[in-house]
Amino acid sequence: MMVGISLWGGGEDEKVLRGKDTFAVSSKNYEGDPYTYYLYTITPKQVGKIEPVIKRIVDVGLKVHLQLLSNDEGVDGFSWRPEELRDLRFEMDEMLDSYPQTIISSKYYHEVLTTGVMKGRRFGWNECPSVTESMDNRQPPVRRLIHFYRWAADLKTVHRCCTSATRDCSTCKDGAAHMSWVMVNKREHMNTTQDLQNWIEVYEMFAKLYRLIPW
Ligand code: SF4
Repeated sequence: MMVGISLWGGGEDEKVLRGKDTFAVSSKNYEGDPYTYYLYTITPKQVGKIEPVIKRIVDVGLKVHLQLLSNDEGVDGFSWRPEELRDLRFEMDEMLDSYPQTIISSKYYHEVLTTGVMKGRRFGWNECPSVTESMDNRQPPVRRLIHFYRWAADLKTVHRCCTSATRDCSTCKDGAAHMSWVMVNKREHMNTTQDLQNWIEVYEMFAKLYRLIPW
């Protein structure tokens, strides 16, 4: 079982968004643990500034998986603009090239996550594979990766998906949902060598994240 620790940026960003530099605490508890990774949610305010965050993770010997903030509460300055998404995509690519032993990712994942588009289709409710099975009434049924359920802490209540119940799917930037969206669409990635390589890299990324393959 892997432990994913939520991270919302550098020390100052975390103080603004979460009240304290949580990394300072979690990194002490989990330093060097091969079964732990950081789930780094990048906000628009961190474009151009993610390398110091990655370096902090390198220094404590942990891994990191990247996703993007979805501004569910509509906080001023935290909604994505197209140019920020474009810049971030290339920044994430650069980081992956520079820290391939720390960042669990792929360039195709960066493309799909930042554009919200895969093979001409747009991500959203009609495509998302990460919907709790008993609440999924979409017709025709949407492809799913697993029998996904999101349980609440009482272990009885189920929620629609792993994000807030009211999130607008059309602006959702959830990383796992985008990663599994690529994974369930294998046939759409069998037309060219590059497409198939892209699909395999996303699958490999998933397998590394959950240690299904040695890494
Ligand atoms: S909010 Fe995101 S993860 Fe949840 S159902 Fe909508 S698209 Fe899927």
